[in-house]
Amino acid sequence: MVSEDHLKAAKQRMLDQHLRSRGITDERVLAAMERVPREEFVPAPLRGRAYDDRALSIELGQTISQPYTVAFMAQAARLEGHERVLEVGTGSGYGAAVLCHLASEVYTIERWPELFDSATQRLERLGFHNVVTKLDDGSLGWPEQAPFDAIITTAAAEQLPNVFRDQLAEGGRIIIPIGELSGGQTMFRITRRNGTFEEERLGLFSFVPLVCQS
Ligand code: SAH
Repeated sequence: MVSEDHLKAAKQRMLDQHLRSRGITDERVLAAMERVPREEFVPAPLRGRAYDDRALSIELGQTISQPYTVAFMAQAARLEGHERVLEVGTGSGYGAAVLCHLASEVYTIERWPELFDSATQRLERLGFHNVVTKLDDGSLGWPEQAPFDAIITTAAAEQLPNVFRDQLAEGGRIIIPIGELSGGQTMFRITRRNGTFEEERLGLFSFVPLVCQS
C-alpha cells in the first residue's frame, strides 16, 4: 500500500522540482497539476511512482505522458478558462483531466477501445463533467465540435494533420509534437491569426506515434 503521505510529498516534489524549477510558471497550470490525482491514472502497481517525472506504461504499449510534458503543453496552449479544447490521444485520461481545470470544455479522442473505455469510466468516476470522450481516429479532428480554441496532440505526428488548421478558431493554438518517430520530435505551437498560421518551435520531446488510418 502506498501511503497518502508518500503521495503528498511526491506531488509537492513534482510541483517544485520538476515543474516550477523547469519553467512552468503559469499558476493555473500548477494548480491544475496539484488538483489532479495522478495516482488514479496509472496502473495500480505503479501508484507509488505516479509523481516521478517520467512517462509510465499504461495498457496496450501506450504511455501516460510525464508530468513536465503535460504541464508544458498546457502552458503552451495559453488557456484562460473559457476555451473549448480538443485533445488527440486520451490514453489514461490524465492530460484531459488537467485540461478540465484549465478550460471550459474538453473534447478528447482515443483510437484504442480499451483505453477509451477505461479513461471514460475513470474521468466519470473522478467527477470530471466538462469532458467528452470519443473513440475514433483523432487525426481527423472532431468536425462536429469545431472550431476549437486549442488542439493538443499527445502523440507524435510526422506532419500536421490537414484538418487541424480548418478546425482551429481565430486566435486558436495547435500544440503538437512533429518529427521522425524514431528520434525525438519538435513541439510546435501553431497560432491562427487573421487566417494565417504562425509556427513556433518550443523544444524537443519524445512521444508515442500518432497512428493515422486515413
Ligand atoms: N494524454 C495521454 C497520453 C497518451 S499517449 C495521457 O495523459 O495519458 C498517446 C495516446 O494517443 C495513446 O493512448 C494512443 O493510443 C493515442 N493515439 C495514437 N494515435 C491516435 C489517433 N490517430 N487518434 C486518437 N488517439 C491516438
